[in-house]
Amino acid sequence: MDKIYDLLKKHWGYSSFRPFQEAIMKGILDGKDILVFLPTGSGKSLCFQLPALRKTGLTLVVTPLIALMKDQVTQLAQKGIHAEAIFSGMSSLEIERRLDNCVYGTVKLLYVSPERLQTDLFKLRAATMPITTLVVDEAHCISQWGYDFRPSYLEIAHFKQTIPKANTVAFTATATKRVKQDIQDCLQLNHPLLFAQTFHRPNLVYWVRKTDQKETQLLKALQQSNGPAIIYVNTRKKTENIATFLQKNGITSAFYHAGLTTADRATKQALWSENKVRTMVATAAFGMGIDKADVSLVMHLDLPASLEAYCQEAGRAGRNNATAYAILWYDEQDIAHLKQKWKESYPTIDQVRKVYQHLVNYYKIAVGSHAFVTYDFDLEDFKQTTGLYAKEAYYGIKALESDGFIQLNEAYYQPSRVYFLLSREALYAFQLRHPAYDLCIKALLRLYGGTLFTPYCKIIEKKIAQFIHITEYKVADQLDALHRLKVLEYLPQKASPQITFLTPRYLAAELPLPIHKIEQKNKIAYQQIEAVIEYVTNDRRCRLATLLDYFDEAETTCNQCDICKKKSNEAIHHTAMLEGRHYVMNAIRNGKQDLKNIIETVDYDKEKELLHIIRAMLDAKEIYYQKPGELEINEPSKPLHG
Ligand code: ADP
Ligand code: MG
Repeated sequence: MDKIYDLLKKHWGYSSFRPFQEAIMKGILDGKDILVFLPTGSGKSLCFQLPALRKTGLTLVVTPLIALMKDQVTQLAQKGIHAEAIFSGMSSLEIERRLDNCVYGTVKLLYVSPERLQTDLFKLRAATMPITTLVVDEAHCISQWGYDFRPSYLEIAHFKQTIPKANTVAFTATATKRVKQDIQDCLQLNHPLLFAQTFHRPNLVYWVRKTDQKETQLLKALQQSNGPAIIYVNTRKKTENIATFLQKNGITSAFYHAGLTTADRATKQALWSENKVRTMVATAAFGMGIDKADVSLVMHLDLPASLEAYCQEAGRAGRNNATAYAILWYDEQDIAHLKQKWKESYPTIDQVRKVYQHLVNYYKIAVGSHAFVTYDFDLEDFKQTTGLYAKEAYYGIKALESDGFIQLNEAYYQPSRVYFLLSREALYAFQLRHPAYDLCIKALLRLYGGTLFTPYCKIIEKKIAQFIHITEYKVADQLDALHRLKVLEYLPQKASPQITFLTPRYLAAELPLPIHKIEQKNKIAYQQIEAVIEYVTNDRRCRLATLLDYFDEAETTCNQCDICKKKSNEAIHHTAMLEGRHYVMNAIRNGKQDLKNIIETVDYDKEKELLHIIRAMLDAKEIYYQKPGELEINEPSKPLHG
């Protein structure tokens, strides 16, 4: 095993393994079947790439996305490792050449899509290759209970007969029991070794609070603690707002989201990693590959979309095993928002059909007309013409795209963007000096507001043009000029967005949507948000126990979360009450029947508590006044007085 350290240093330049990596590699080198359930970003690729180098022969990797394949092959090449990938779109000559490389050459890893395994050519050639290990990456694709069911994954078990000597190793980030079981069953693994992260992190204290003063509470939590913190929020704009708020209140802070440039993100991450700022306010985009061990607080100001996401994010606290806190604040509106967001992002079958109908009407496409016709697509105009809501149109189109009816070019996802480089005051001064740009700037501010002052607000020139009654061309011209004057940064859209119809036109009602898959997906997403709501609203069950139960792990109570603390306080109170009652009874029995006399017998600081107990006992008729100033015990045998 010493050799794997050398390889780690030599090819990857890393000095140590992450949790599980070494044990998984040992299993692979021993030829075992293995199942690995580890979260995204935990370094699963290395687990099979490194042993592939150590072993003689070839490791075959099944993975669902072409982009992923290309990416890994390029990265491995940079490390001096020969890997190949075969994917659709390659010429048969090219495929032949690569397959030859695998049979006779120096190739250590071959990446293929699951569909490839079913072709006769590939099976024939695979049988002659020195394949020692079969890797199934993103193995959750095998389960119809998961998110990305790929029926061709089911054929893997059958394909294994082609390479009977190879061991099979499956990797996924999924944590749901049903999917895990499916993977194990469908891959027909032989007594697999199991590696799974546990969500049981004994040093992590979970805390949930319903509040309508999140910012105040956040500030208080930070003021009363030390150590690096991550604060998760749901929108890009909020990351900046909260960071500004914290800065103003003396807590050093940076913000992070996917809309920032790569360089900007790297700078901010470095600031935080090197403890130059204490808090990072971020969207879920922040976290992958963060190795900071001493995070002492992870706080959520919005509800996460699933407990999987929550644990992933909260789990970034306390990696050094010191006590750390995972705090979540929410209010009633957050729950409504979460449900609303689900409703919008997961359109029903009818909604998808409706958007399809609008699309074909919009382009006046006749039933049965040809496939692969491309049109310019203007979402603004589409919305205005059809009267669809923005989100309705957006997610409907997305669903049609993911189900293979239409395709959108990159420009659709990359509209023009603007970022004001001046402060509001400086901008105002500029407007006064340059009245020619006044209208355009005012329109921008009216339409997009404060977001313009955070990096890269998406804008639509046409919308601005309509707003101030000039041509789109003129708007672009003005934005260009403002860009040159360094008033703002203007990144115009590179190409015009286009939509391609991939099938002949259907009648909307007959559109062959994968109904089961869509419904399943919607249902899974709903169950996930229900679990989040249950986690935050349940006020009797230990937070840790709720999480462990969700992930099908052995349940235990933590004795440190807000609920465990509340229960233990109740218990303490209860004990104090019992002891107090005893004390009062004894006092009365010993002849101290005057309230004043009883109170006198205890320390000053206990007087109030004892009075409270006596009052409760009087209310419960455990004791009563025989006459003024003369308390008596209401023995069960005596008839009740009062
Ligand atoms: P996963 O497949 O589990 O989502 P990846 O294999 O893509 O994760 O790895 C995530 C990142 O972690 C990559 O940038 C990888 O280079 C890095 N990484 C993996 N193992 C180590 C290690 N032992 N030390 C440092 N970085 C590592
Ligand atoms: Mg991976």
